[in-house]
Amino acid sequence: MNRNRRVKILATLGPASNNPEMIFKLASAGADVFRINMSHASHDVMRGTVAAIRGVEEQLGFPIGILVDIQGPKHRLGVFEKGEIDVQPGHVITLDSDPKPGNTERVHLPHRDILDAMQIGHRMLVNDGKVELRVIETGDGWARAEVVSGTWLADKKGVNLPDSELASGALTEKDRKDLDAALQEEIDWVALSFIQRPDDLAEARKVCRGRVGLMAKIEKPQAMQRLDEIIENSDAVMVARGDLGVEMPLELVPSMQKKMIRKCRKAGRPVVVATQMLESMINAPVPTRAEVSDVANAVYEGADAIMLSAESAAGDYPLEAVSTMNSIAEAIESDKGYLDTIASQRPEPEPTGSDAISYAASEIADTLGLAGIVCFTASGSTGLRAARARPAKPILALSPVPKTARRLALVWGTQCVITPDAGDLDDMVDKACRAAYREELARPGDRIIISAGVPLRTPGSTNMLRIAYIGSDGQGSIHRSTD
Ligand code: PGA
Ligand code: MN
Repeated sequence: MNRNRRVKILATLGPASNNPEMIFKLASAGADVFRINMSHASHDVMRGTVAAIRGVEEQLGFPIGILVDIQGPKHRLGVFEKGEIDVQPGHVITLDSDPKPGNTERVHLPHRDILDAMQIGHRMLVNDGKVELRVIETGDGWARAEVVSGTWLADKKGVNLPDSELASGALTEKDRKDLDAALQEEIDWVALSFIQRPDDLAEARKVCRGRVGLMAKIEKPQAMQRLDEIIENSDAVMVARGDLGVEMPLELVPSMQKKMIRKCRKAGRPVVVATQMLESMINAPVPTRAEVSDVANAVYEGADAIMLSAESAAGDYPLEAVSTMNSIAEAIESDKGYLDTIASQRPEPEPTGSDAISYAASEIADTLGLAGIVCFTASGSTGLRAARARPAKPILALSPVPKTARRLALVWGTQCVITPDAGDLDDMVDKACRAAYREELARPGDRIIISAGVPLRTPGSTNMLRIAYIGSDGQGSIHRSTD
């Protein structure tokens, strides 16, 4: 399978798409990784969806990544006697720990930790920021707040607290159960919502024990403040523009996106741009011009992946959303300016064998007009460093570990193939050439550059580059001169 683009597509599955037929269509149309959102999926649905994806993967014959998104401490109001109340600026309401249905005077806020964290002056944003309240008085287990803007509160509406740092970690009781259930399945990535600090990742890492990659969703100002440490302690990052745009001024989201992408590219962490990328396609078969520009912008910024949420999970046009995203990415990447833009933002190599080799491979491939770069990677770290160099030529990552190949499905420009370990150097060259030929990266007579670590099977030993010809039968030839 040879996609005609470097940026990857991450598609959320839900009621509109979590069946084998649609998953097959979405993967064929361009979805590289699927997201299962535990805010909505039950354990049974999650298990069924994983099984369906793995079935499609088997049919299609290329590795597909699965990301399970953990809800995190997403807070919601309790319920009202009448289901809703009208409010207006100046209206005062008490939030308390009494589960009785609320009225215009008071309502239940079923999260003791936020009641404890709220201080006078803190903002409370309800229903994606449509209603803003400001705390005017606090007490033991209650807080009184005044409506600043908005006209309506209703049962179970989401509550964002941009000013309050909560004592609780990133995993609620529900999250622990969801995580335990997800880790029983063949999944590759776990996304953590509303993390505030690096410790939140450490807590999840203890539970996951290396079985999955950890993706930090950046959607709180507290996480933005400690961005460097969070990137350092994560395996990937999501620019979670939905909640980020509620918790922080909307007009700051584009620059925060750029900052996150730049820092992640420097750190060699895959970065995903998420939310409302093709929002209007929930109800329409074509996107708006502004949405096309937004997707294009993320591609030009060199993000590893672009994400669909409700567009593919709950909308009327999941397939059109994936194929539209695919067409936009292909068109942008075939623009001559694209590779120049990507190259101009390329971070410096770090002084390691792996980076020196990755950057050299990219240079040599350009200078000699090679067909592509083939790297052997067991843990995936060589693949990640190869992608960090954002080479102009395609990267083919060969791994004997299916988990690694699937995890790399999220990574920019990296096509992954599960290949048995090479016995010796000749075998390695041969395997690389055959894979490049089979995956239609190179034709007989083309040359590729192979990077690997010798001795083979020693992690972190990337130290070798080899140029090889693809023979007439698709086998490697190392006997001819390499100019
Ligand atoms: P969500 O996260 O879709 O789980 O809310 C993404 C975002 O907030 O942008
Ligand atoms: Mn979110």
